[in-house]
Amino acid sequence: MTYPNGMLHIAGVWTPGSAGETLPVLNPANGETLGTCAVATRDDLDRALAAAARGFSAWRAVPAFERGKVLRRAAALLRQRADDIARIMTREQGKPLAEARIETLAAADVIDWFAEEGRRAYGRIVPARADGVVQMVLREPVGPVAAFTPWNFPINQAVRKVSAALCTGCSVILKGPEDTPASCAALIAAFLDAGVPGDVLSLVYGDPAAISGHLIPHPVIAKISFTGSTPVGKQLAALAGQHMKRVTMELGGHAPALVFADADIETAISVLGANKFRNAGQVCVAPTRFLVHEAVYERFRDGFVAFAEGRKVGDGLDPDTTMGPLIHARRLEAMESLCADAVARGAELRTGGTRLGNRGNFFAPTVLCDVPREARIMNEEPFGPVALIQRFSDEEAIFTEANRLPYGLAAYAYTRSATRATRIAAQLRSGMVGINHHGLGFPETPFGGVGDSGYGSEGGSEAIEAYLTTKFVSQASANG
Ligand code: NAD
Repeated sequence: MTYPNGMLHIAGVWTPGSAGETLPVLNPANGETLGTCAVATRDDLDRALAAAARGFSAWRAVPAFERGKVLRRAAALLRQRADDIARIMTREQGKPLAEARIETLAAADVIDWFAEEGRRAYGRIVPARADGVVQMVLREPVGPVAAFTPWNFPINQAVRKVSAALCTGCSVILKGPEDTPASCAALIAAFLDAGVPGDVLSLVYGDPAAISGHLIPHPVIAKISFTGSTPVGKQLAALAGQHMKRVTMELGGHAPALVFADADIETAISVLGANKFRNAGQVCVAPTRFLVHEAVYERFRDGFVAFAEGRKVGDGLDPDTTMGPLIHARRLEAMESLCADAVARGAELRTGGTRLGNRGNFFAPTVLCDVPREARIMNEEPFGPVALIQRFSDEEAIFTEANRLPYGLAAYAYTRSATRATRIAAQLRSGMVGINHHGLGFPETPFGGVGDSGYGSEGGSEAIEAYLTTKFVSQASANG
């Protein structure tokens, strides 16, 4: 199958961009050029903004029931096209084909859920103090949305924002990922083919800072949603704040995983291991700091190292592959430098720690033990296939370590004690906590962080709230 070049979609037209400028798209498994990604000019962005304004006026007037039907058609199209889309995603992003297929099918479930939930954006009636007065609380769509999504889940990062916006009656300009444009474009095509009007949904790529710098302050845009790194998120939130724009920020994490002496160790190894190395660790909720009670430390460590060494690293199109390459050479360099820093400071490298081969961005599944707290990797999000296993004996101190960083996205714990599980849920400073299983990331459950991991939620009914405004109307019956 030929690789479709990444095009912009503006005002109902797929276009290469008005200046004809493109960026190369590389296959991270072999470094070969797959195709190109179109670059939006300022003029293209202005046309997208004008379309978003027109699109919002028209789309908000479509009943939620009808919007839901269009969304459900988009979900059905995505399911029909899942095999082709998964192959495109694997080639441009690197993840194993099975993961790409699951991501595409899960996106269809996200769309279905928002299609239904949009019909439940209820207002309410507040009992009035005076006779003849009706006090109405109305929910209205916030307005045109500028959404920014990254390359690690080219479809699933975008689908949550686009579905929530569309089901509430908002229009969207999506700045998709330049590294992985074609699978994101396939998602947008499914919405458009299902009947979302062309003015309502635009897709642009290009220079991320130039695009966000133009869209966020623009008067047409009412709401910003960004997924990416904490430093960029802080810049964009500050810019949005200057212009009093509503913001959802889904940023980085550094998830602690607590393994207590009474845990089911085999389950902890297999579930945490699968989630550490999924998508080569390029997952914001990936477990990173494994804090293991000394009574089970060796058993956990040795089992986890065996799990890491059992990963089959290779091209995601090979059916035997369980872990693909990193997205670009920058992440390889980041892994090498973070691991070298940890080892230089005294960490014990149990397995991995190096690039695999000299073609493609492959990095070995890596386990570092007893990593000093001042090592960079104990403080910076690795966003790669590196697990840090630490030993603990003092249960109180472990909560302090788990909550030490400014991040607070996901946290995990394994224990057979119900009493301890209740304490864990209360003590961990985190937007999401998975106890004795992973359990995060469903459309119907909240998804988001606290602290430097951002604010707002991309799942559950909270995800819809972010795209609605509240209007209070107090109406008295007219005399005569
Ligand atoms: P990066 O910071 O260059 O880019 C991360 C994302 O932010 C990309 O999608 C990029 O297009 C976007 N971006 C960057 N500057 C922007 C700007 N000024 N305006 C709008 N968008 C902008 O980093 P990278 O090397 O591509 O990725 C590595 C880092 O990004 C990781 O360390 C990780 O923390 C973060 N990241 C997080 C997620 C997530 O799911 N939270 C996803 C991808 C990347």
